[in-house]
Amino acid sequence: MAMKAKYEIRCSCGTKFTGDFYEYVFAEYDPELKDSILSGEFNRIPCPSCDQRLHIENRFLYRDEKNKLWVWVCKKGEESQRDELAEELIEKNTMIEGHFLDDKEDYRRFLVFGRDGLIELLLKEDQALKRSEGRSLKNNPALRLIMEGNKDPGYLFLSGKNIKISLPLRLTEAHKHLVTGPEEKKKWLLYYSQGLNIHNPCSSFLNKRLRVKWNRIREKEPGNDMENEFDDFAESWAGYRMDIKRFKALYPERREFFDGLKNMKIPRKLRAMNTRLIPQESG
Ligand SMILES: [Zn+2]
Repeated sequence: MAMKAKYEIRCSCGTKFTGDFYEYVFAEYDPELKDSILSGEFNRIPCPSCDQRLHIENRFLYRDEKNKLWVWVCKKGEESQRDELAEELIEKNTMIEGHFLDDKEDYRRFLVFGRDGLIELLLKEDQALKRSEGRSLKNNPALRLIMEGNKDPGYLFLSGKNIKISLPLRLTEAHKHLVTGPEEKKKWLLYYSQGLNIHNPCSSFLNKRLRVKWNRIREKEPGNDMENEFDDFAESWAGYRMDIKRFKALYPERREFFDGLKNMKIPRKLRAMNTRLIPQESG
């Protein structure tokens, strides 16, 4: 049932080769592909010369008959074109020839960006997955990877029974003034990862009531990131932990909200990652 397409890729060892990558996944017919999406092995193929497993990010269609999901998964970097893509994919229903929704009126259509976006959606809409993964995602320890120097800041890794999720840490221009040296930067990223551990799109500890409250406060006291409530939370949490006096003066309501969360029990422990175990990201 699955469909593949050929893509040309170049490995960091210099070898150029053509590989088959999936463009259509029908969850009920290809359960092993669904598993590979969850584990992060999806669309990774070994370089014929050096055996390094390479990944390319391509658009693909994910279909789930049981939960009636029809999901266009676009590249992470395409998120800024959301409106145009929604029109092109959902309205005109283009993308993969021969796979049209004409006789599938009962499907719900979604547009997401990147594997993480798909997992976030599935954890809400795929009831069996929600049951099987929800609890372990909340109880298995999260790993924090903080990079030194000027590389990407790092990640928070969450793992369930089969699901592996990586959430990027951030230090944006707007907050660089709070960080005066490498030690301070590490501290910021540690606090940021704490915030992300509490509230993130895949496995949050804020219940509905707290989430409504958080978003009400965000409207009253706008922060740096108006788009994304999760990054805004993590960023704000880091600001709160770095310098509570300054934070209190700027954001009294956010501060009060965070004070209230301090006593909340977060079963998912946060641990530093053993850097020898860093997964190889490439492609
Ligand atoms: Zn290679």
